[in-house]
Amino acid sequence: MFNFVACGRFAPSPTGPLHAGSLLTALASWLQARQAGGVWRVRIEDLDPPREVPGAAQRQLATLAAFGLHPDGEVVYQSQRHHLYAAALDRLMADGLAFECHCSRSDLAASGGIHRRCRPDRRRPDPAIRLRVPDGCTIAVEDAIHGRIEQRVDLAVGDFVLRRSDGLWAYQLAVVVDDAAQGVTTVVRGADLLDSTPRQILLQRLLGLPTPAYAHVPLLLGADGRKLSKSDAALPVDGTSPLPTLIRLWELLGQAPLPASALRCPKAFLDAAVPAFRLDHIPRTLACLDSGRGSAH
Ligand code: GLU
Repeated sequence: MFNFVACGRFAPSPTGPLHAGSLLTALASWLQARQAGGVWRVRIEDLDPPREVPGAAQRQLATLAAFGLHPDGEVVYQSQRHHLYAAALDRLMADGLAFECHCSRSDLAASGGIHRRCRPDRRRPDPAIRLRVPDGCTIAVEDAIHGRIEQRVDLAVGDFVLRRSDGLWAYQLAVVVDDAAQGVTTVVRGADLLDSTPRQILLQRLLGLPTPAYAHVPLLLGADGRKLSKSDAALPVDGTSPLPTLIRLWELLGQAPLPASALRCPKAFLDAAVPAFRLDHIPRTLACLDSGRGSAH
């Protein structure tokens, strides 16, 4: 019998506290999964130790909990899953789809960082491993918010890195392996990753993995029009008073107001929000947060 379980996920990198933009994405992903009657997983993407902030993952999980966004099952840490990425890479190498690359960053500077052919004279003890992207490779994404997006992967990004020369796994490989291993059926995440999605779909095809549905939530910008940081006071995410922030995030997601009975407490709000949520009402772009609320920084 066909046994379909919808699965969404939130996959923060532990590089600092969650800000309102990440919480917006987490909320949209949670709502989508819950509305589908599915599970919602949290995966900590801690593959880049130099960029990691000690304690950030625990604080991110505490923030999610303070807003009532509780994951199903164990939280997964990418730092404990190297064997899965190695197995996928071995498979791509064995199939002749990935190759060792000895080029340096400066070798690629002339082509804007895009790799198509290796410099034959280069040898390094620590080569990167790249995916061989076929000439003319065009991948289309059907995004629930942005519609159809096409990318010529060979021209836009070229042969992209799967394992860096310092031995760290590339995000593109790890995310594809993990989304498949965790049974993710819908990826709801920030629009800054929209142009990564064709690379991920290409990898899914080459590895024989299913392609989930995608919805890329617009980025929330601070009052100055720049990316949000934790110092934005317009939408506090410290979890001490979650309800007003949840209500504002719901509005930003383009959703119709909920009845007064939903505004009693975060749980009542989320319970009412799940059936009312409309993924297709999320706008493609978001206005900046107004700085009139709270103290300006
Ligand atoms: N770890 C990524 C980030 O925090 C998100 C990856 C994803 O959702 O695919 O930006």
